[in-house]
This record gives sequence, C-alpha cells and structure tokens, in this order.
Amino acid sequence: MRVELLCTGDELVTGLTPDTNSPYLEARLFELGIKVGRVVLVGDVREDITRGLEEAASRSDVVIVSGGLGPTADDFTAECAAAAARVPLVEDAGTLRFLRERAQKRGRELTPNVARMALVPEGSEVVPNPVGSAPLFIVRLGACRLFFLPGVPREYRALVDGEVLPRVRAELERRPERTWRAFRLLRTVGLPESVLDARVAPLAVAHPRVVFGFRTHAPENQLKLMAEAPSQAEADAALASAEAAARAELGLSVYGADQDTYPAVLARRLTEARATLAIAESCTGGLIASQLASVPGASAFLVGSAVVYTERMKTHWAGVPPELLERHGAVSRPVAVALAEGIRASCGTTYGLSVTGVAGPSGGTPEHPVGTVYCALAVEGGPTRCERFSLSGDRELVRLFAASHALELLREHLLTSPASSP
Ligand code: ATP
Ligand code: MG
Repeated sequence: MRVELLCTGDELVTGLTPDTNSPYLEARLFELGIKVGRVVLVGDVREDITRGLEEAASRSDVVIVSGGLGPTADDFTAECAAAAARVPLVEDAGTLRFLRERAQKRGRELTPNVARMALVPEGSEVVPNPVGSAPLFIVRLGACRLFFLPGVPREYRALVDGEVLPRVRAELERRPERTWRAFRLLRTVGLPESVLDARVAPLAVAHPRVVFGFRTHAPENQLKLMAEAPSQAEADAALASAEAAARAELGLSVYGADQDTYPAVLARRLTEARATLAIAESCTGGLIASQLASVPGASAFLVGSAVVYTERMKTHWAGVPPELLERHGAVSRPVAVALAEGIRASCGTTYGLSVTGVAGPSGGTPEHPVGTVYCALAVEGGPTRCERFSLSGDRELVRLFAASHALELLREHLLTSPASSP
C-alpha cells in the first residue's frame, strides 16, 4: 500500500515549527509494515495545497493531511480539498451542532469563523474530533483516500491512533500481499561500529527475512533487527532466531534491548547484587555519578562520588599519597588504582570506581597524549583492576567514552564474577 503525508502551514516552511506530526505517524505506519513513500510540507498557499493534494493522490492509495482546519484566516485546507475533488463545500450538520453546543458550554455565541469548521467537501466521511473542534474528514479522489486532520499535535495524534490507523489496518488486512513485521533493537557498548558490522554481517545470509541495520549513538552502537514475513508468527520466529544468533556473536557487548538505558541496566544489576558504589572522578567531572543518579532509586547502591579534579583533592578526598602523584603524575595507572581503592575505603562500599585522564584539547604529553584515560575498579576483598584507554574525539567525546569504559569495568565484573552474581 502506498502512503504519503502532506503537512500544511507557513510555520512548517519558515523554520518556526518543526514537523513532529509526520515522524509520529511514520513510526506507527512502519509498525504496520508500511514505509511512507513521501512527506511533503506546503506553506499556506491555496494553489500549492490543492496541487499538492492532487499530486499525492495520483501516486498513492492513502494520503494523510495535517493542518489548516482551524477557524483562522490562514486555515483553508478544506477549501483546497474541495477544489482538488471538484466538489463544493457543504455544511456538516453534526459538526455544526457540536460546535454550537461547545460554544454554549463556554458561554459564547457561535461565531462565523468557528462555524466555518463545519464546512467539508461534499461526499466526505466526517469523524468527530475527541479532543478538539475541527473534525477529521475523509475524501475519495480516484482510487485514493485522503484523511484530513487538524495540525495541533495533540489532536493529530488522537485522531491518528483512534481513527486513521484502524482504517489503514483494516484496508491492509483486505490486501493479499500484506506482510507482518517484528522488531528488536540490541544495544551494545565497547564495540566500534565497524567491528559490530563485521561481526554481524555474516549472519544476514542465514536470516533472509531479517534486515540488519546499524545506528551509532555515542557511546553506544545499536543493531536494529527487522523481520518481515507473511504472518506475525513467522516474523516473530525469524526475529527470535536472528536475535539469538546476534546475541551469541556479540556476547557481553549487548547490554540491553529496545527501551533499556545503560544506567538503568547497571543500576538493576547493582541493586540485585546488593552492592554499593563510590566513585572518584577526575576528567569526567561527575558525569558517571550524574548518569547513575538519573535512575530512580539510585540511592540503593550509589553511596557517593567525589570530583577530584586537582591533586590536592585526590589526596584529601580519596587518600592518594602525594608521593605517588609526584612520582607518576595524576594521569597514571598507580594513581587510578589508588583513587579507586581510596574512595572505596573511605566510603566503605563494595566497589570503588575511578577515572583519571587527559580530556584535551590541551594538557597532553608524549607519554600521555590527549585521550589517554585510566579507569580502575576496586573490589571489596578482591584485586583492583585498572585499564588504560586511548580515546579519540573532542573533549566531550573523550569524557563520554571515559565514563562508559569505567562503567563497563563494573558491568563486566558484575556479569562475570560468581561471588556477586545474583
Ligand atoms: P487550529 O484549530 O489550531 O488552527 P489547524 O488544523 O488549523 O488547527 P494549524 O493551524 O495548521 O492546525 O496548526 C495548529 C498548531 O499546530 C500550530 O501551533 C502549529 O504550529 C502546530 N502544527 C501544525 N502542524 C504541525 C506539524 N506538522 N508538526 C508539529 N506541529 C504542527
Ligand atoms: Mg490553524
């Protein structure tokens, strides 16, 4: 089924209002297996709207139109719809009654501009708007059905969900070529996109019903799996099999799926393990604590975090011996270890996590160029682990990945150490 969207309004073509109605509908249509063929934005110009409607209808089975149904002088989409369908505008009695009652309830007279919202192209199907004034009307133009919706996002969404999608779904079900879809988003950390692609690409041959897509959202790389089949059960089965293969290939790099977020997943593991955490952050400046504190209930595991930016505070708050700082410098393995162990000891937690590094753009040395980061994890009753990373990118990216690598030390430990598994 070919579907196009057309949104009207000067605000959409002058940089004042981004079109958010289309992405909302596109996502819902895609869940039904429909990829929108074209989205057109048109300013408030009668001839442009009329021609836009005619052109979209000539290419499509369904066109969904947004905006210009209100009472103001710049609202003339119904007029354009009538012109495109070559029929007159007629008054819809039900809508007029509804508008009159609505005005009365508010102690107002029905003004002529409001009454204009009851005018629809002759022969249209009119559907009341549950959350606003202007109704939805549906017009046939040749083989195409055009749905006209108010532009106000709240009204648009209510009518899309309640009226448009059920009609589109019913039409799809009548079609012999209908397909079904199933989706999964696997979220990974620690693998560059090229590595993810190289490891997953060979799986595609064995899963012809599944499209493998990649998306980067630093510090994550995401693998999107979309299965398409002649029945929902087959789509679900194809997806499950591709997902199992991808998870087997990627192992612990997959931290979650769909709506999961990294901090929430880690928070759940820490809470389940009844573990507590203290953090000493240098170059990340509180980023790690901020991410973890974004999770409701973080106080169950997050005891405290010290931003130990200067050498003095590394000593004062995390107990790093001044000689160690003098001998090795603040960005070094011994200092990262001492920070993690010191903050864990002073807070009495299960884990101590630390980060120290050169975020740039200045401050690099030949031994420790910009992007050098040490992360350490101190564990109650166990050895401390420390890793060195060479990160690329600007200051923001270095800090983001430094936080991610530090948290990964903790997640890996929680997943692999038998003592702390729930
Ligand atoms: P109204 O009764 O409010 O006039 P309408 O159907 O005439 O409804 P518009 O006048 O086109 O709709 O838009 C109403 C409001 O909705 C405006 O604030 C506009 O910025 C917003 N809007 C319209 N179209 C879109 C869109 N595609 N995406 C996001 N917002 C939109
Ligand atoms: Mg309007």
